[in-house]
Amino acid sequence: MTVWNLGSVNADRFYAVPHIPAAGETLAATGYAEGLGGKGANMAVASARAGSRVELIGAVGADGGWMRDRLASYGVSVAHVAQVEGPSGHANIAVDGDGENQILILPGANVLLDRGQVAAALAAAAAGDIFVCQNETNLQREAADIARAQGLRVAYAAAPFSAGAVGRMLPVTDLLVMNAVEARQLEEATGTAPADLPVRDVVITLGPDGCRWIDTVSGQSRDFPSPRVSAVDTTGAGDTFTGYLLAGLDQGAGMPEALHLALRAAALKVTRRGTADAIPARDEVTGWQP
Ligand code: ATP
Repeated sequence: MTVWNLGSVNADRFYAVPHIPAAGETLAATGYAEGLGGKGANMAVASARAGSRVELIGAVGADGGWMRDRLASYGVSVAHVAQVEGPSGHANIAVDGDGENQILILPGANVLLDRGQVAAALAAAAAGDIFVCQNETNLQREAADIARAQGLRVAYAAAPFSAGAVGRMLPVTDLLVMNAVEARQLEEATGTAPADLPVRDVVITLGPDGCRWIDTVSGQSRDFPSPRVSAVDTTGAGDTFTGYLLAGLDQGAGMPEALHLALRAAALKVTRRGTADAIPARDEVTGWQP
């Protein structure tokens, strides 16, 4: 089957700085690196590296050809990643010697998705495929409506948290994935505990403590521990988790087996520096001894 990912593609630009700049300050960076990021791209790379067929529906700007190429090199189909006028989505990330950071994000092309583009892409989806989106693009609900009508299972990563976006997405979501902070924000915004949400499956990630799966139909909640590792960079851990979880489900695993796979992949990722480029491949995950 296929994982259809309506998602963001960002250039992550890292600047090493002697200190985090103050308002009005001009500061020379002492180092620079650029990598592929964005929640959509990260999840798409994770699902593809886990061995699933992945179609990314998104957009990059005129400067984004290298990101389409990079995604394709990881096995993500970019046939539905448009190249539009204007800048690509990007994050300028200043990091000082203590690891403190300051991040400026331009959504850019990620919020210029076109209804016709989304409809044309999802016309090729088949019942039993999985659809996933996050909160870094436009047209999530519109795309989820089409996906549902086509018989796809709809997964939604409620990140970055937005009460408005969650309110729009919950009625059409089958599988909700969020971290503990987002779960608390959601409960505050809706007044509803995760177990009472109108969503079949809720997965809450708990950092080094693993994750919790709530089956809202049976009312059962089950915790899954993470392999113990010494973390060097947790960027993209949540996206690696979600991408691997969906790939596991796409390939026929039940929820517990897919969660075990996702926890191993995310734990291995946090032992490596980088975002999309640091997401491990399936054989690395299965052969890994934590
Ligand atoms: P991020 O924003 O860092 O990508 P997140 O805040 O969305 O992640 P977390 O719950 O912190 O979400 O982490 C997601 C998953 O990544 C966890 O469920 C776990 O599997 C894995 N993970 C994160 N941190 C660690 C860690 N220190 N050790 C092992 N696994 C980790």
